[in-house]
Amino acid sequence: MGEMRDRGAALLGRLRELPGGPELLDLAAERDDVELVGGAARDLLLGRDPRELDVVVDGTAQAFADLLVCTLDDRFAEDGVRGGVQAHERFGTAAVRWSAGRIDVATRRAESYAFPGALPDVRAGTPEQDLRRRDFTVNAIAVSLGGARRGELRAVAHALDDLAASRLRVLRDDSFAEDPTRLLRLARYRARLRFEPDAHTARLAAEAIAAGALATVSHARIGAELRLALAEPDPVGALESLAQLGVLAALHEAIELDAPLARAALDALPPGADAWPDVLLLASLLLPAHSYDTTAYETRLRALLDGFEIPAAERERTVHSAILAPRVAERLQHAQTSSQVYETTHDAPLEAVALAAALADAEGRGDAADLARRWLCELRHVRLAINGDDLLAAGVAAGPEVGRRLAHALARKLDGELGQGREAELSAALEDL
Ligand code: ATP
Repeated sequence: MGEMRDRGAALLGRLRELPGGPELLDLAAERDDVELVGGAARDLLLGRDPRELDVVVDGTAQAFADLLVCTLDDRFAEDGVRGGVQAHERFGTAAVRWSAGRIDVATRRAESYAFPGALPDVRAGTPEQDLRRRDFTVNAIAVSLGGARRGELRAVAHALDDLAASRLRVLRDDSFAEDPTRLLRLARYRARLRFEPDAHTARLAAEAIAAGALATVSHARIGAELRLALAEPDPVGALESLAQLGVLAALHEAIELDAPLARAALDALPPGADAWPDVLLLASLLLPAHSYDTTAYETRLRALLDGFEIPAAERERTVHSAILAPRVAERLQHAQTSSQVYETTHDAPLEAVALAAALADAEGRGDAADLARRWLCELRHVRLAINGDDLLAAGVAAGPEVGRRLAHALARKLDGELGQGREAELSAALEDL
C-alpha cells in the first residue's frame, strides 16, 4: 500500500513538470473527483512523457475544461491566441489545446455497444465503470489529483503487473469484437511502447480478425486509426505491427506492407513541407502488385482512400504516387543524362520518386536509385532565370512554343551545357529547335 502511495506521489511530481501540469494540480487541489487516467497515467508511471494529459471528472467535462482555460490564460497569451476548448458532447469530452500542451477532459462514464463495431453509447458512470470501459489494463489506471485521496492509485486487476511486464491485456474476452478499433490500438501500443499482448489477448485478437470483426467497423473509423498509426514516432514500426497482427491483410486485398522498402523510401524523401511522409507510406502500402489495368486500379484505390476519409489532395497524391513509383523506377534505368531524369520525374510527386528510389534499390538497380535520389536532393531545384515573358519580349509567338523553348533551355542547363547567367539561357531558348 505504501509503495502505491509513493508511486502516486512520484507521478504527481512528474506531472508538475509537464506543460499544464501545475495548473491542473492547482485546479484539482480541493476536489475529490479529478483523476489522471489512461495513457497519461500509464506513461508517467513508465517514466515517459505522455502525449497529452487525460483527465476524468464528475460533472461536465466542458465545465472543467473552461476552468482550465481560465487558469491557463498566461500560456494561451504566450501563444497569442485565446485558448480553445474543443468539446465532443456525445462522448462527454473536451480537449484543451495550446502550442505546448494538450489536456483531454472526460466525464466519468460507462459505455455500452448497441452492436459489435458500433460507436459506444455513453452514460455517466462510477469510477470503477470508467476504468472497466477501457481497452487494455495498462490504460485502466487512475491517480487522484486532489482532495483527501490525492496521489492515490486505482487500477483494474493485473494493471500494475502488466505495466511492469510490458504486457497488453484486454479487460474482457469480447473486447475486440465490441470495438475492433482496439486491434489497431493494440498494434500502435506494441510498436510504440514495445509491449506485447499476453497469450490470451493475442488469441482473442487473432480470433476477432479471423471472424471478420474489422468488417463491422466503418471505414472512416479505420481510416482515423490508420492515420494515428502514420502519426506514430515510428510509423513503419506501427504498420509492421498492424501487418503482423493480420490487420492490414484483413482491411483490403490491395494493402501490403514491405517494411524495408517503406523505410528506404522514407529515408529518400527530402525533409520539408513539400514532402508528405503520410502519403508516401500510404502509397507504399498500395503499390500495384504486378501488371495491372491502371484505370481500374486507380478507381479501386480512390474508393478505398475515400472510404478511409483521406482528404482529396492527399488521396490524389497517394494514388499517383502508388501508380507512378514503379514506372519512374523502370524508366530511370534508361536515363543517361540529367535532362532525361527530369523528363522521367518532374511530373511525379516527390513521394513517387522516393518510392522509386527504394524500389530500384530493392531490385538491385542502384544506378536508377541514385538518379532518383539525385533528383530529390539536387536536380529538382534547378530553375531557369528566364521566363516566358523574356521569350515573348525576344519575339517568340505566344502559345505552346514558349513552353517548348523554356523546356529546351532547362534541359541544356540541367545537362551542364550552359554558361552562367540569363544570356546563356536566353540564347539556348532561342536556338533552332
Ligand atoms: P496516446 O499515448 O496515444 O495518447 P492514450 O492511451 O492516451 O494513448 P487515447 O486515444 O488518448 O489513448 O485515449 C485515452 C484513453 O481512453 C486510453 O488510454 C484508454 O484508456 C481509453 N480509450 C481510448 N480509446 C479506447 C477504445 N477504443 N476502447 C476503450 N478504451 C479506449
